[in-house]
Amino acid sequence: MKDSNFLKEHNARSLWHPMTHPADSLANPPTIVTGAQGVRITDIDGHEVVDGVGGLWNVNLGFSCQPVKDAITAQMDRLPYYSIFRGTSNDAVIQLAEELRDFFAPDGLTRAFFTSGGSDSVETALRLARQYHKIRGEAGRVKFLSLKKGYHGTHFGAASVNGNANFRTAYEPLLAGCHQIPAPYAYRNPFNETDPERLAQFCLAALEDEIAFQGAGTIAAFIMEPILGAGGVIPPHESFMPGVREICSKHGILLIADEVITAFGRTGSWSGCRHWGVRPDMSCTAKAITNGYFPFGAVMIAEEVAQTFEKDESGRAAIGHGYTYSGHPVGAAAALACLSETIRLNVPVNAAARGAQMHKGLLALQERHAVIGDVRGGHGLMCALELVGNRATKAPIDKRAIGKVQEVAYEAGAMVRVSGPNIILSPPLVLDAADVDTILSALDAGLATVEG
Ligand code: PMP
Repeated sequence: MKDSNFLKEHNARSLWHPMTHPADSLANPPTIVTGAQGVRITDIDGHEVVDGVGGLWNVNLGFSCQPVKDAITAQMDRLPYYSIFRGTSNDAVIQLAEELRDFFAPDGLTRAFFTSGGSDSVETALRLARQYHKIRGEAGRVKFLSLKKGYHGTHFGAASVNGNANFRTAYEPLLAGCHQIPAPYAYRNPFNETDPERLAQFCLAALEDEIAFQGAGTIAAFIMEPILGAGGVIPPHESFMPGVREICSKHGILLIADEVITAFGRTGSWSGCRHWGVRPDMSCTAKAITNGYFPFGAVMIAEEVAQTFEKDESGRAAIGHGYTYSGHPVGAAAALACLSETIRLNVPVNAAARGAQMHKGLLALQERHAVIGDVRGGHGLMCALELVGNRATKAPIDKRAIGKVQEVAYEAGAMVRVSGPNIILSPPLVLDAADVDTILSALDAGLATVEG
């Protein structure tokens, strides 16, 4: 392998990184990751750290999941690719659809449409939502509602329902008819409400208000993450998602759950919807569906929505949508192995226990570091620290300071992720108590340098 300096220089002159200013690669060269085992990654300088990010919220089973690697290799040898566009299918994808149907049965989701990732899944769900209403003769239902601070991906549809200006402004104008309501974000919200339960009621009232303002008959779907992830790990009060379900049902609006992060155990439940006891009309999955080893995703569809398409006699239900890699046999084989490992290891149980340990540890750090404005977590292995320049005024922290926390934490043994003012933690779900302690002490070291 070429040396570190050579790679960093060539990186800067030849490639652009997602979600990064192109000039940054030169000023702040990336860590060159050369290997990964278990829950640890190694860089080109021989530094080994616990991966507090879990790849990108996707490597739930860690980096050494041999059954998934074996399934990928075996499928590559047998059938490396064939499309499932009209006229062809393959055994791996059929078996996967059946197993996902069983897995998601408690959420009422019985059909699968396969994609190559999270943004594709969101795009698919938005399109199918519009088509569903057209089939039913309600062609005027074309708008989408979502939450401020929500993240749904990068395609024009997904970007249009995103609730963070950083992912929108440079690409506007986006899709017309997409509107965001306040998120149940207790630390900062327009209602100045800190009680999560009352805040949930305010946000639900805002949803009702927006529906009345837009006209229920113009709205196709409401999309939300059961726990907001990239927006800074924002778990709503337990009454929120059931309240959204009730409002959507009352107004004939489809509820799309964006479970790209929350499905397959991350919240401590098998899915985010099950965590809140809600049955969505569609659910978007990706990421951990293949443990990050192969780009893949699936939109799961509720029985009633499926029946509307399947029983259509108007000719409007032909699906004019799909990707070259929809139903990729290697992705399907990887997903089958992941599903079976996820169930065999009962990963939500460890996610819940280690998540509780991490949340408690972060609250203890908050007592010692004034720079921590808010600690969020308590639902499996999704946690965040929101850093502030001043705890009393909640003034934002200097960007360089938060970068420093990350840098020092890395030197001290843990990779953590910075997103805006937040440090986000989403490690593999198979880590143990000592790994959580490593992440916490690395963060402790990082936070100490900022305050010192
Ligand atoms: N939805 C959610 C909730 C996500 O967190 C993400 C990615 N972080 C996406 C959609 C987009 O997924 P992808 O990056 O695989 O396109």
